[in-house]
Amino acid sequence: MSAPASSSNRPFLNRRLAAFGTTIFAEMSALASSTGSINLGQGFPDTDGPAEIAEAAVRAIRDGRGNQYPPGPGVPELRTAIAAHQQRFYGLGYDPDTEVLVTAGATEAIAAALLALLEPGDEVIALEPFYDSYAACIAMAGAVRVPLTLRAPDFRPDLDALRDAVTPRTRLLLLNTPHNPTGTVLTPAELAAIAELAVERDLLVVTDEVYEHLVFEGGHTPLASFPGMRERTVTISSAGKTFSFTGWKVGWITAPPALVSAVRSAKQFLTYVSSGPFQYAVAEALALPDSYYDGFRADLAAKRDLLADGLADAGFEVFRPQGTYFITTDVSPLGEKDGLAFCRALPARCGVVAIPNQVFYDDKSAGATQVRWAFCKRTDVLQEAVNRLRQL
Ligand SMILES: *Cc1c(COP(=O)(O)O)cnc(C)c1O
Repeated sequence: MSAPASSSNRPFLNRRLAAFGTTIFAEMSALASSTGSINLGQGFPDTDGPAEIAEAAVRAIRDGRGNQYPPGPGVPELRTAIAAHQQRFYGLGYDPDTEVLVTAGATEAIAAALLALLEPGDEVIALEPFYDSYAACIAMAGAVRVPLTLRAPDFRPDLDALRDAVTPRTRLLLLNTPHNPTGTVLTPAELAAIAELAVERDLLVVTDEVYEHLVFEGGHTPLASFPGMRERTVTISSAGKTFSFTGWKVGWITAPPALVSAVRSAKQFLTYVSSGPFQYAVAEALALPDSYYDGFRADLAAKRDLLADGLADAGFEVFRPQGTYFITTDVSPLGEKDGLAFCRALPARCGVVAIPNQVFYDDKSAGATQVRWAFCKRTDVLQEAVNRLRQL
């Protein structure tokens, strides 16, 4: 008789995922609700997106559009709108039928791309601090992550270090611009250097551009627009951040047909399809006039300034972000030595929740004293948070 599985010493969670535990967001959001704190930890807006877009989703449900499994690649209206968006904002032409794939948020796009494109043992160079799903998805693919560390105070990528990090085993660069959590926006010169290296070393690139409409100075430049890049780049974006509907989970990739087809092979066994009626609503959202996009960016820029000034007044060293929803600060000027301990104590001290950046680094020392704050919140909420933080 063989022993039941439960009597073996083998842990339930496999070795690939054992290191990841539960995300910091779960711990900090639980702390926020148990202490009644203002939650500037997790990056979701506390105001919904445009009412007419919410209405479009209701209309789609009522009209019976998307209530049953939508087509695997996404509904044609949305794929057409995504292609039109890439053309309108960046002059990039993608065929809606063969070069666009709709996913369950950017999160699924990241997972499907990495699961599809990587062999076990392949090396992936990614900017650290990492968005929290990157390291886990690289691990699930059996690949090896190689961090390129962004360091305070400027958080610029060290392009010589990047060149040195490429080995014969490097398969893919995983980029994120605008970058969460640091707020760094890669410059055209940095992107050009990265593109040149990718072409020279024949690397694939997966680029997470979910904050493409939150660049506060200058504009967003997609990596796919550089010479030699279109054919090797999977560009990821999502409706969640741009239209303030993070719960809808409508994301997408744009890439040449062979890459879309590869990513779709993985995606079909993850969710197959998702968010049917919301896909129709997002198609309408993408076609909103420039005044929507300009107003959204101006609103977030004002909130960034409010929170950045308040954090500086409260004694933090503030690294003013060029993009995203987030401000990274350093807690050292307050006499603090560890961002994680600081964040765990903060709700009790003054009723505010933030996220310690060290959890997004392999090199813990690089982010030990950094703390991230989300400013995608109502102005009165940010003002109250700033008042509370001044008591520190
Ligand atoms: C929020 C976020 C995502 C996830 O986007 P969803 O569309 O909600 O899945 C991916 N990447 C970055 C950098 C993000 O900040």
